[in-house]
Amino acid sequence: MADIRLLPQNIAEQIAAGEVVERPASVIKELVENSIDAGADKITVEIQRGGIAFMRVTDNGCGIKHNQVKTAFLRHATSKIQTENDLYSIATLGFRGEALASISTVSRVELLTKTAEAESGSRYVIEGGNEVSFEEIGCPQGTTIIIRDLFFNTPARMKFLKKDASEATAVATVLDAIALSHPEISIRFIKDSKSALVTSGDGKLSSAIYSVLGREFSSGLIEADSTTTGIRVSGMISKPVYCRPTRSAQYFFLNGRFIRSGVVAKALDQAYKNTIMVGKFPACVLNIEIPLNRVDVNVHPAKTEVRFSDERAVFEAVYYAVKNALLAGDTRPQLNLDTKPPKKEAEPFTRMSVAEFKKLNSTETGKPTVAEQVYNIGQTPKYQQPATTSFKDFGKTLVSNKTVNISYTEEPKKPVLETKQAEPKPAFIKIEEPPKTEKPYQQILDIVLDDETKFENATFIEENEIEFKYIGEAFRTYLMVQKKGSIWFIDKHAAHERLLYNKLKAEGVTEVQTLLSPVSVTLSREEHRAVLDNLDLLKKSGFEVEEFGTASVLVRAVPASLVKTDVMFLMCDIAANLVKFGKAETDILDDLYHNIACRSAVKGGNSQSAAELEEFAKKILSDNSIMYCPHGRPVAFELKKSELEKQFGRTK
Ligand code: ADP
Ligand code: MG
Repeated sequence: MADIRLLPQNIAEQIAAGEVVERPASVIKELVENSIDAGADKITVEIQRGGIAFMRVTDNGCGIKHNQVKTAFLRHATSKIQTENDLYSIATLGFRGEALASISTVSRVELLTKTAEAESGSRYVIEGGNEVSFEEIGCPQGTTIIIRDLFFNTPARMKFLKKDASEATAVATVLDAIALSHPEISIRFIKDSKSALVTSGDGKLSSAIYSVLGREFSSGLIEADSTTTGIRVSGMISKPVYCRPTRSAQYFFLNGRFIRSGVVAKALDQAYKNTIMVGKFPACVLNIEIPLNRVDVNVHPAKTEVRFSDERAVFEAVYYAVKNALLAGDTRPQLNLDTKPPKKEAEPFTRMSVAEFKKLNSTETGKPTVAEQVYNIGQTPKYQQPATTSFKDFGKTLVSNKTVNISYTEEPKKPVLETKQAEPKPAFIKIEEPPKTEKPYQQILDIVLDDETKFENATFIEENEIEFKYIGEAFRTYLMVQKKGSIWFIDKHAAHERLLYNKLKAEGVTEVQTLLSPVSVTLSREEHRAVLDNLDLLKKSGFEVEEFGTASVLVRAVPASLVKTDVMFLMCDIAANLVKFGKAETDILDDLYHNIACRSAVKGGNSQSAAELEEFAKKILSDNSIMYCPHGRPVAFELKKSELEKQFGRTK
């Protein structure tokens, strides 16, 4: 081996720089954190070519005094800690005094800065660690730092950089996290001269989330905020139905600083368990506030993975915060039919204004009248207006053709003609003053519904107040209910499964049925072992199983609700899961309950009486704990009347 020698200063510096400065995104993170520490509430970040060619961070923070500018670029120069004790209660983001020193050794840096008190500012240029110029200049309060040609003097590092677009994405990701953890700071990000992110800085987390994650995500959020053993966890989480295919929308912060942590992610998963589908992930923006002395600070500041001295406490704090929020804030999903409403023109089943109606109805236009149009719908032959038509008959014909009745409603002030889909009861339409002119339809606006029908306006208003009306079952799978201003669709299997599962969790298996003849089930060696290891748990959930030779077990009894299922198939499934789920007792029981609930639940296609189904639907809609099946599929969807109206073009 060669002799041992001290590294030349510049090489040592460059190696040290590598720890902090890996890529443009790490530079931006350090610079923006400095701006935040400087008390800025407006920060603008600009990059060109993924930041490799050009990065500029401008803030309105406290600035650096002229006589300290050069010091700021020395290694281990910091204004943020003074004594060793400070190390254990770090409130600021940076504290090692390394960033500016490191960045300036591997790029060309230009700094403009001014404090509030100073009359003039400073401009400092330093390239590859060597001072180029230092002068007094005029500039606004705050700091602007420009980084050009990153790694221009360290080609080896340059090689590790990805394509410009990837580097830009990494910068954007860093800024997203910063924006989400600092809703009180207005952050602007300009990428290749185009605005890529602007947050308002109004202090509201929801505003920051809207800017960063978009409208769709913002609409399905629940607020979380709770404190467990001195650890506060607050922020927003997604409703289970808005979950995503990856973890990319999970943002965790520790005392305001973006972190990654296995423990925290696990706590989140656990809290969502049984409410989201397998392979989907919740989204969240959660800040964990822990007294500073309970966090291990000796984790590299450029790394986001953190260590907690008390992992269990952090796990519980996150778990309970999320779980509580879900219990309190989750509502059943709503159906939004995202298609365009039909065009108004020539649509007899849409609402129209008097003017439109009159125009349509006037014979001068040459267009068919509304009545003619109504008659022409469907396959009925073209209507020939008989001389003797009475409005009473007119109404009847309409009903027999298409079950439509016409009502006269007032909407704000404008009378409108409204067609309504009615129940198949006959509706009669009567004219208050019987028409005497040749053009009786012109007076159709005066028609009102006959009192003898049950379709007065008052009835329609009451419809919105209906507490529960069972409509029926479709595809022998989905139940439909009218409730208040909505129609509900319920997946009867999913709902029943959840109902049974909740009951099992609360009461355990209450009824066990001994099989007439015990069933022997042959298993793999691993499964056999797993079943024998868990005989007690199986017993607890209603399965009486015993050893039966080296590869089989004998099932003597099963939960009463399962007597009709194929016991052999069931046992194989349970055994396979026992192998998969390993040791935790709660997981095993959970899975057993899943299995029992799923197999005992009515299947789509099973036929039950309408009365039974109605009773069942009522139960499901009145119990908000039955929102997802144990596999996380939603149990019921709500379709608001307003959404229907939108579809039918009744509203704009
Ligand atoms: P650290 O942030 O760990 O202290 P840095 O090398 O990032 O180390 O910065 C060195 C010092 O320069 C900081 O402690 C701070 O006093 C000063 N500084 C850096 N950036 C700014 C800024 N944008 N505004 C005001 N002061 C700054
Ligand atoms: Mg710093």
